[in-house]
Amino acid sequence: MVDGRDSVRGVVSAGRMVTGPGGQVLADGAVLYDGGLIAAAGPRTEVEAQAGPGVPRLAFPGGTLLPGLIDSHVHLVLDAGPDPVAGLQAASDAELYAAMADRAGRLLATGVTTARDLGDRGGLAVRLRDEIAAGRVPGPRLLSAGTPLTVPGGHCWFMGGEVEGADAIREAVRRNAAAGADLIKVMATGGGVTKGGPPVWQAQFTPAELALIVAEARSFGLPVAAHAHGTEGIVAAVAAGVDSIEHCTWTGRSGFDVREDVVDAIAARGIAVCPAASPDWRGFAERFGRERAEEMFGRIRWMAERGVRLLPGTDAGISRAVFDDFVSSLEFFEHIGLDPAEIVDLATTGAARAVGIGGDTGRLAAGFRADLLVVDGDPLTDLAALRSVRLVVAGGRPVSPLPGAS
Ligand SMILES: [Zn+2]
Repeated sequence: MVDGRDSVRGVVSAGRMVTGPGGQVLADGAVLYDGGLIAAAGPRTEVEAQAGPGVPRLAFPGGTLLPGLIDSHVHLVLDAGPDPVAGLQAASDAELYAAMADRAGRLLATGVTTARDLGDRGGLAVRLRDEIAAGRVPGPRLLSAGTPLTVPGGHCWFMGGEVEGADAIREAVRRNAAAGADLIKVMATGGGVTKGGPPVWQAQFTPAELALIVAEARSFGLPVAAHAHGTEGIVAAVAAGVDSIEHCTWTGRSGFDVREDVVDAIAARGIAVCPAASPDWRGFAERFGRERAEEMFGRIRWMAERGVRLLPGTDAGISRAVFDDFVSSLEFFEHIGLDPAEIVDLATTGAARAVGIGGDTGRLAAGFRADLLVVDGDPLTDLAALRSVRLVVAGGRPVSPLPGAS
């Protein structure tokens, strides 16, 4: 293992290179990275000539080089154990921060070079983001929502973001922005992990309050992600103009309650939907009832067919949603009928665009961040190949060069 915290120059080549967008593939491709960015990407012979002698080279002739993966929905403050909320409440900030750094390392080792943290406590994810960016802690680039807005006693109240009324809403958005959040997260409906909170179908904010949250976030140039299971909350979030809807299960007071006109609006406005399929989605289906689960899963596919942009994310930190198995979450999309090449695109180029960093992340091209992943085999035909990680480079920092690379 190379510690590799210092950004270095290097050439990485592979028998197959996925440059993105749209899963464009180059045979025998290479990337030259320098100072955290990609300096050149293209045919290996050209890139090697440009690099000149003396630049370290890692060659993976049997592997695939692709942009690092983007997990758009994680909670680094939660431990993925049987009772993550109790774990959070019992931990001091110092303990929590150390655990978050460890979880960030696990994401990175499995090829996740960007993760969107959708709810922390006390700004800890922002602090970790900055430490990672400075090269002091290994981890993926983090986009942090800071502390999510919720109603008193509402979903994830224990993260510290309870607000009531317009003034408190403005103040909470301002506080997150001042703390350096990359986006604002709002709990538009109840959620499963909050014992005694509102049911998942129930809206937590009025449409006017959601519109205020979005307007305030916009005044700081921040996008908004809305957690919404219930149809009422989804409708209000779309009307308010959020940028992404997390879960989007269309849960009604009794059974599912889909609004086709709203699905069309989601598609037309380019609002991304992150189903937040846990790596344990198969187990979830068993516990939830397979038939009902399949109905829910099928709806995600149907939304995609109606033109809705899907966003892969694990909800890592929630019970059984571990930090080192993004690939199982990606297999959910295969289960609902997408092919591996489409899924790789969604998890790289597509996700970068959807979370607002498509200008510098998610492609192997000059000027983009040097976020690289090399795996054995071809993930464009066999998604499971993403489990055979050979190398991860995050922001120009190689984190896991493995024996056998030449
Ligand atoms: Zn979540």
